[in-house]
Amino acid sequence: MKRLAILGSTGSIGTQALDVVAANPDKFKVEVLSAHSNSALLIEQARKFRPAAVVVTDEKKVKEVKDALLMLSIKVLSGDQALAEVVQWDSVDVVLGAIVGFAGLRSTLAAVEAGKVIALANKETLVVAGEIVMQRAAEKNATIIPVDSEHSAIFQCLVGEDPAALEKVILTASGGPFLGRKPNYLVNVKASHALQHPNWTMGAKITIDSSTLMNKGLEMIEAKWMFNLANEQVDVVVHPQSIIHSMVQFTDGSVKSQMGLPDMKLPIQYALGYPQRIANNYKRVDFKEYSKLTFEPVDYKTFRNLEIARNAMFKGGNTPCVMNAANEVVVNAFLHNKVGFLEMSDMIEKTIDSVSFIEHPTLEDYISSDIEAREYAAAFVKKSQLSMY
Ligand code: NAD
Ligand code: MG
Repeated sequence: MKRLAILGSTGSIGTQALDVVAANPDKFKVEVLSAHSNSALLIEQARKFRPAAVVVTDEKKVKEVKDALLMLSIKVLSGDQALAEVVQWDSVDVVLGAIVGFAGLRSTLAAVEAGKVIALANKETLVVAGEIVMQRAAEKNATIIPVDSEHSAIFQCLVGEDPAALEKVILTASGGPFLGRKPNYLVNVKASHALQHPNWTMGAKITIDSSTLMNKGLEMIEAKWMFNLANEQVDVVVHPQSIIHSMVQFTDGSVKSQMGLPDMKLPIQYALGYPQRIANNYKRVDFKEYSKLTFEPVDYKTFRNLEIARNAMFKGGNTPCVMNAANEVVVNAFLHNKVGFLEMSDMIEKTIDSVSFIEHPTLEDYISSDIEAREYAAAFVKKSQLSMY
């Protein structure tokens, strides 16, 4: 029986993880749940799964959750500090990091320091501070298992292989809702349109990132740190059907891929169950329905965010951290119709140019670079035509 702390339990990944838990009561027990502001769903989840504790990070919601759970002897804790503490409890075996954005960094690092098994969905943690996170994980004997479908695919392809035989990884990208579109079309795109992803249903932030291809850029950097790769070993190809979740090319020219229907419950279940594969009766791939699996190059010129992220990966230092912070700010602004679709790339670039470069950042440097980048990006957002209305 694995005892789980599910951070971000009310999100897209968190709720699907709880579906996996509910289907396998003999394998998993929920010890901790956490959410930011969706108190109603957190209360419902706590009543159903009866964890020892829940953590609420939005202070405004704490009282409501406390009142609701009073009679169930479930501890209700609040704030980021509590989040960093619960993941270190002896009663927690596996931490699922499913918080969105930079906000997930601190709790992930705390779990690393305690040498836990971490099923990591929160890619921004590795984008911001991948070098520190992976180094500490090695020192503390913490195990990081990817939840992101591409990285789960790569991880699965590498089982039983000699790491030295890896030549490169090839991340597949669906291309998002605007595949094949050009800037003259993208300039008028609104959030409601960008939120309609063809293959996956996900949280709002990652759905916008998928439409700009920033998501694939974040995933390149995530892959670099997760699998200890040189920049040149990380490649991307567009594969609109999202059946091949990614590939590994070996030094003898062989390529392995992992395939499946686009359903995040698969990589979530794999990460929680690892090293065991858990049987399920989810829909299988019927290859007769997919007579064509196609591939095409990425349009870096149109989807500038991917180029920006790739360059940030090569530049290193605090640049990916700065890029990530700027992206979080402009995506939030785009979701509120405060900036245009193409403006997002301009503002991210300008933020990278504005924040001073640090080649070998400490954790404190990352935290201050994140704050500084958010200030610059917010100022650029304010100057947008759309923000003026
Ligand atoms: P989501 O927006 O649906 O859920 C986010 C969760 O984080 C919620 O439970 C929310 O309460 C919590 N949260 C938000 N802000 C917080 C804060 N400041 N402090 C503490 N908790 C906070 O997001 P999601 O789509 O589930 O994505 C979660 C992570 O998983 C992201 O890093 C994303 O990139 C990654 N991921 C998601 C998918 C997917 O299919 N949704 C696929 C691959 C990777
Ligand atoms: Mg992914």
